[in-house]
Amino acid sequence: MKLYPLQQLTRPDLQSHIYSKALLGNLAALKSLCAPHTKFCAVIKANAYGHGITEVVNILKDADVDFFAVASFYEALHVVGLIDRQSILILEPIVPHCPPDRIFACVNHRLHCVMATLHAHEYVAGLLDGSDNILDIHVNVESGMGRCGIDPDCAVELIKRIDDCPNTRLAGVYTHFATADEEDLSYARRQLDTFNAFLADTGLPDRTDVIIHSANSAATIKMPRAHFDMVRCGISLYGYYSRPMTDPPVTLQPVMKLQAPIVQIKHIGAGCPVSYGCSFTPTRNTTAAIVPLGYADGYWRCFSNKAVMKLGERLVGVIGRVCMDQLIIDVTDVPDVSLGQMVTVIDNSHDSPCGVYKLAELADSICYEILTCIHAHVNRIVH
Ligand SMILES: *Cc1c(COP(=O)(O)O)cnc(C)c1O
Repeated sequence: MKLYPLQQLTRPDLQSHIYSKALLGNLAALKSLCAPHTKFCAVIKANAYGHGITEVVNILKDADVDFFAVASFYEALHVVGLIDRQSILILEPIVPHCPPDRIFACVNHRLHCVMATLHAHEYVAGLLDGSDNILDIHVNVESGMGRCGIDPDCAVELIKRIDDCPNTRLAGVYTHFATADEEDLSYARRQLDTFNAFLADTGLPDRTDVIIHSANSAATIKMPRAHFDMVRCGISLYGYYSRPMTDPPVTLQPVMKLQAPIVQIKHIGAGCPVSYGCSFTPTRNTTAAIVPLGYADGYWRCFSNKAVMKLGERLVGVIGRVCMDQLIIDVTDVPDVSLGQMVTVIDNSHDSPCGVYKLAELADSICYEILTCIHAHVNRIVH
């Protein structure tokens, strides 16, 4: 199977600082909430939530992590070359039209695959029949997420077929919560009850060879009964609660700080409009600085005239429309601005005015989307 190497343009001027200490600290904090035997699955889909999949795996591969979870097969192929100890779980379920090559690659690289239909099993069993190849499978049980899980009734049959087939091994059984990040956990608790009832019916908890898992970050933090044999944490590993939390039982540190340079400083007279659409007209003589970052780099257009950035410890406003590759900040009140000076675009603190929560609020979105939008061409600098 072809291993698609990343041959991707990098922009050294746009710097995403990745703090290993924060990442490892978050891992330790999350593990401190779990029983000692609980396995840890680090979720690194979407380029490790925009932090850089290669950089994040390189930091975590020597840490106490048992699994890396990716969204797609191709991400798994990328990660295979980076690790030697952990297992990889591909969250995208196997479907009967997936190319045979992929199944064979999963067997060869011992990638753990998700299955949620009987058809998918028939397909895999047919492909591997007569060989001594074995595919590790995690069954995704639907408990209320309403996405790709298999209904509990059919899951019993799927598990039986996996067990009866010499080419498939039941490695895990899991479910996924729809609302564990919300204040009201009643729906999540009902999902947990459904999953527990299913587990009790099947006797799965007695099988030491099967990893039972359900908790995402929010459930890891707030629902200890959902930990089972393994937790799957994404957003919390990168330092964020799924949504801002007032009294968190564990302290998380943002892992990333995004910076970009000032490339031009100019004076704009009072009354002269700034950028596309002339959406901002200064009422005073203004010193403006151009930053070579825009919505194509993952800095949203809706931040125009709303967001702030940090120049040293001073806050500076984004004025006018954010363009595709450029934006303008008002540095009139900053005494010693210089060309090449780095501006903090996204701060690594929860309550910073240019932190991820604040930007998510401005964008009417969630911290996940702000982070994952940061373009892969941004240079990741690991500290
Ligand atoms: C993305 C994902 C996670 C991680 O969710 P976080 O809220 O980021 O911790 C866990 N499990 C599954 C199945 C996922 O798709």
